[in-house]
Amino acid sequence: MKIHFTGTHAGYASKFGQTTGFVIESDNELIVVDVPENTQQLIQQMNLSLSKITVICITHMHLDHIAGLISLLSTLLTNNSSQKISLLGPAGLQAYVDFYLKFILLVPQPASLQIIELNPLQRLDFEHFSLQTVNLKHVVTCLGYFFDFKSTNILFALDTNLNVNKEELQQLKNVQWFVTECTFKSEQINKCESSGHSCPKFISEIQEMMKPAQIIVSHIRREYQQINSAPKIKEIKATRSILGEEMEFDVYVAEPLAFCQIK
Ligand SMILES: [Zn+2]
Repeated sequence: MKIHFTGTHAGYASKFGQTTGFVIESDNELIVVDVPENTQQLIQQMNLSLSKITVICITHMHLDHIAGLISLLSTLLTNNSSQKISLLGPAGLQAYVDFYLKFILLVPQPASLQIIELNPLQRLDFEHFSLQTVNLKHVVTCLGYFFDFKSTNILFALDTNLNVNKEELQQLKNVQWFVTECTFKSEQINKCESSGHSCPKFISEIQEMMKPAQIIVSHIRREYQQINSAPKIKEIKATRSILGEEMEFDVYVAEPLAFCQIK
């Protein structure tokens, strides 16, 4: 199993990198978590097949997390109308997709597309995994997703101020892969507070508290993650620093088009 990174930036794309998104690749399916602009092309650049997408999860409705959703859906619905897709996300998602179906594609919602607006602490069971939503602290309604595959589990907690979300996250025991965000440096705690984001200090505190087996960090501001050449497909290695700050534990810092082998 792998977690691929479509993009890793916070807020805005750079010359070579998109905003934050993930694809979980398991034996038989692809699960997309957030859909930056250009996601359909990025997935194909990673040599993955769009026809294997079964579930798309949206954390929140900010544009850097959904800008590629309509074009991805358009391709999936037009190319293979029998492909069953579950689209999950917060309130507002149905209306967002309805606008496109009604005024642009001019068709009713196809039976193959299931849209579910989720509340925090909701649980859903799929054929190969279950998932539970977590209430995150951001400036708009934002859902964390805890995926429980039989062989491993993954918690996506972004965008969020991890400092405010300690209690919610503490409920989740034995997290194997903790995927989170680091928009700012630790000296910018005020910005974290006002915009509902995180920094290396918050990640250290959550690591100390939850002791997840592995941590992946993404959603990094462009100026802290200079990407100066076209991204390449490669496996990420663990390091001991985030945004140039030293950590006391191993951490995987996401890079566009790269992946983590998670089992
Ligand atoms: Zn964001």
